Amino acid sequence: MSGWVKVAGLGPGAEAMVTDQVRAALAAATDVIGYIPYVARVAPREGLVLHPSDNRVELDRARHAIDLAAEGRRAVIVSSGDPGVFAMASALFEALEHRPDPGAFDIEILPGITAMLAAAARLGAPLGHDFCAINLSDNLKPWDLIERRLRLAAEGGFAMAFYNPRAASRPGRFERVLDILREGCGPNRLISFARAVTTPDEHLLTVTLGEARAEMADMRTMVIVGTPDARRVGRFVYSPRSA
Ligand code: SAH
Repeated sequence: MSGWVKVAGLGPGAEAMVTDQVRAALAAATDVIGYIPYVARVAPREGLVLHPSDNRVELDRARHAIDLAAEGRRAVIVSSGDPGVFAMASALFEALEHRPDPGAFDIEILPGITAMLAAAARLGAPLGHDFCAINLSDNLKPWDLIERRLRLAAEGGFAMAFYNPRAASRPGRFERVLDILREGCGPNRLISFARAVTTPDEHLLTVTLGEARAEMADMRTMVIVGTPDARRVGRFVYSPRSA
C-alpha cells in the first residue's frame, strides 16, 4: 500500500466533536505525529506508533510525516481544533514546497471544529455578523502588525475572535490589546472569555470592554468581541445579523 499524510483536526476537546472522517484516518494510520497534548488524545493500539513532540517544531514534524509517507507509511499529523487555523496544515505545505517531488505524496487535510466556532456556540452567537480571526501570538509575525490589524478591525466594526491571547512569557501584551480595543470600540462593547470550551474545565465569562481585565484570559481561552450592536439575551450574547 502506498504512503500518505493526512493532517487532522481533533476539535476543541470533546470526543463527540471529533469527526467520523478523522476517526477513520486515525484507525487507518501507522503513525501519529503532533504536539504532546494532542497526541495524548489518540488512543494507543497495536501497530500504531505515536510521535509526540514539543511545541514550536512544526516544520520538523511536517518533514517527519513526509519522510514516513515516502517510506510507504500512513501518517496523521494531529492539531487541535481545525488544522488549517493557526496550525499544522500550512506547516505541511511549507515543508512540501521545499521538496523536489511535492506531487509524489497523497495529502489530505481533514477539517475539525475550530475553537472559535465551539466558543461562539457556547456563548450564543457573537460571530453572527461579519467577523475576523486574529492570532495574538507574535511568534511568527511582528507585534506592530498585530496592533495595526486590531485597530483596523475595530474601525471596520467587525466582531473579532482572538486565538493565543496571553502567552505566559509576555502577559503584558494582552493589556495593550485591551487598551487598543477600548480606544477603537469604546468601553461598552461586549467581550467574552471562553476557556477550555467543551472540556470539564470550561469557563465562560462576558463583560464590557470597560470591565475587561487581562487576567480573564490565558492560553486556553478564546476571546471574542461582539459587533457594535452585540447584546445579551439571558445568559447568551449575540451579534445581530443586520447592521
Ligand atoms: N488549530 C486550533 C488553534 C490553535 S491556536 C483551532 O482551530 O482551534 C491555540 C489557541 O486556540 C489557544 O491559545 C486558545 O486561544 C484556542 N483554543 C484551543 N482550544 C480551545 C478550547 N477548547 N477552548 C478555548 N480556546 C481554545
